Amino acid sequence: MITRLAKKIGALSEIRDTDPGFSDLAALLTGIKPVLYTDFDGADWPYLKDLCLKLKMEYLLPEALFGRKGFKAAPKYGKKMLLIGRKKKDLEAAAASWGRAETTREWGLLLGYPPCCVDAYLDWKENYSERTDLIRRTHELTPAAKKYHFGLNNVCNFFSRLTPGDAALYRKVGDINYKKGFPLANMHVISWHPCSYACKKSAAAADKIFSFFKVYLPEHAAMLRAVLARPVLVYGKYEFLSFEGKVVKDELRFSGVGAPYSLMDSPLRPGALKLSAVARLGAGRPAGKEPFLLNFSAK
Ligand SMILES: [Zn+2]
Repeated sequence: MITRLAKKIGALSEIRDTDPGFSDLAALLTGIKPVLYTDFDGADWPYLKDLCLKLKMEYLLPEALFGRKGFKAAPKYGKKMLLIGRKKKDLEAAAASWGRAETTREWGLLLGYPPCCVDAYLDWKENYSERTDLIRRTHELTPAAKKYHFGLNNVCNFFSRLTPGDAALYRKVGDINYKKGFPLANMHVISWHPCSYACKKSAAAADKIFSFFKVYLPEHAAMLRAVLARPVLVYGKYEFLSFEGKVVKDELRFSGVGAPYSLMDSPLRPGALKLSAVARLGAGRPAGKEPFLLNFSAK
């Protein structure tokens, strides 16, 4: 899908919504990320070349240098890999890192993700990913607070946290949201996973990216705020309730469940629910399956 920018960026007046996604492009253009990587379909090459030209960005095709052995080179749907950035040397360093090894700290840092978030992600991947979803792990690492920055809501960002058995469920949740007008690929402010929902570096980046959206993609910004700035009750990776409502004092008040949609139906009737009652919802459930509330209504 092509979206017209509310204001031109250099010579650019419209952009596609995927490959690269809105968030990555915004992070690159606001200087948060020195390099973005994306995979792309061969037929989209003219668009991408033109995009780089109009934005005065350099690009590099790592597979041409390092073959397909890097972790991102899994021949997914026959797509190719592309790195885009302001400086050739950043692209070369990222390509060399990509050619050397799988998901590493170096690769994460070269792409501009906060070091704290890179470390937490790698720790999860190595030590927890087989039994605990990243959202639950991130919640465990988050200091308790009344609310968190909506720009860090990654409940429906499934990038980099899918496991081999997930394909069917992921497709299902993607389809449900797509049919209702919410393509999951762009339903996030920051494209990476924060180390905690209180990560200051990620929150600062989210502010910058969201300000960019407000100027250039105002409708997208409004949609994101509407669906991400909500209290979410998370039961599991594909089971969460994104409430149309808010937390007021010690109560969750909501009129229904809205986007992003998960695969579960709400067992809760709209109205007001004491937070202490929300906390008791986990009683009787196995350890690690208790639901938890993430109130993404800050900002
Ligand atoms: Zn962090």
